[in-house]
Amino acid sequence: MRTRTLDCPTCGTMQSFRFLHKEEKAAVREKEGPDFFVDNLWRCTGKGCLTYYAQFNKAGYGRLPEKFLAQEAAADE
Ligand SMILES: [Zn+2]
Repeated sequence: MRTRTLDCPTCGTMQSFRFLHKEEKAAVREKEGPDFFVDNLWRCTGKGCLTYYAQFNKAGYGRLPEKFLAQEAAADE
């Protein structure tokens, strides 16, 4: 999995980020509109964190729906 260390505005620390999964991209498009560009979005992999943002646009960060929290926790085990 491709990751990158970025500053997370929610965790307040440097975190490992990864690209969004297909379902996560779909959820972002549902919120932002069908034409929203989602292929450069990074998601924080910090425990309990749903923050994502486009590279170089930390100020425009958003949060994924809570359902992706359970999925991430399950993947940890
Ligand atoms: Zn975070």
